[in-house]
Order: sequence, then structure tokens, then C-alpha cells
Amino acid sequence: MAVPGRAPVADVIASLTRDVANFPTPGVQFKDLTALFVDREAMGVVIDALADVASGSDLVAGIESRGSLVAAALAARLGIGVLSIRKRGKLPPPVLTEDYDREYGAAGMEIPADSLELRGRKVMVIDDVLATGGTLGAATRLLERTGAKVIGAAVVVELIALGGRKAIAPLHVHSLSQV
Ligand code: AMP
Repeated sequence: MAVPGRAPVADVIASLTRDVANFPTPGVQFKDLTALFVDREAMGVVIDALADVASGSDLVAGIESRGSLVAAALAARLGIGVLSIRKRGKLPPPVLTEDYDREYGAAGMEIPADSLELRGRKVMVIDDVLATGGTLGAATRLLERTGAKVIGAAVVVELIALGGRKAIAPLHVHSLSQV
């Protein structure tokens, strides 16, 4: 799908978001951003917008899996490194773990322990969707345990009704679109 290069980023995102009712659990309206990621121009608009927001960071951390995908593209644009915050059980030990609740159930996320020197690094956390805020809150705690400084978070879509922004205050979240 062709997307006008100058369309406001929120319009670009909305035009390529597929709403899926009752997935992955009943009552959840899933935001499927696959078509957005596939579209070269739309991804360019999204990454441009995130690059403005994340310009003060020296590392971006993306939440597996869709947040990591966006974070990797952003890191390449900014010329900085990227850390993928992994789902529980994917990384070899030793790991640091944080458990959390999200819109559709409990989960855990991990990063390597000891092997990364993150102390003092200015990190921007990236995810696709902000819902209840459990995920971004846990990611922030995980990174802060390493001595990294989380300077903010950015998401492609914020689900306002679920109150995630308030739940993770004072962490500042920049959303490219709100629904
Ligand atoms: P939460 O922790 O409740 O803010 O949930 C955010 C995390 O769960 C993100 O990593 C999203 O990928 C995923 N997520 C939660 N709700 C949705 C939704 N309605 N559509 C797509 N992804 C979602």
C-alpha cells in the first residue's frame, strides 16, 4: 500500500493497523501492526518519528518480539546499539528476570546478567503497543537493575483506556498514536 510520505504519523499507523477482536484471549482487541512493518514508506515514517524522540539515547531496548523489530530499525537509523528484552526462557543463564502482568496475562522478561556493561547508559525502551503498562514497567525495572538510566519509552500505539501511562509514571512515554 502506498503511503504519502508527509502524512501525519498517527494517520499512517491507523491506516495500516488491523484490529482483531478476541485475540489472544476473549475481550482483547489485538492491534496487528504487521502490514505497517511490511510497508517500506510507512516504516520510514514511524522510524523518523521515533528517531526524533530517541535522539538523546545511546542505546535502545526493544521488547520481544515486535518491540525488538522496531528498536532494531531505530538503532540502525540512530547509529547506536540495540538490546532485545527477551521473553522468559529464551536466553541462556545467567539472566536477570522481571515478572509482570499485561493486558492478556502474566509473563516474564529477561536480559543477560553480568555480560553487558549497561551502567550509566542512556536507554530508550521501545514497544509496539502500550496497554496496561506492565510490560514497560518491568522492562524499566530490569534495565535499572543493571545501572542503566532509562530516559524514556516510546510506543507505536497507546491504548488510552487501559491507563498504562499513569501506571508507569513518572517514566515518560511518547506514543506515536493513541486510540
Ligand atoms: P501491557 O503490559 O498491558 O502494557 O501490554 C503491552 C505488551 O503486550 C506489548 O508488548 C504488546 O505487544 C502486547 N499487547 C498488549 N495488549 C495488546 C493489544 N491489544 N494489541 C497488541 N499487542 C498488545
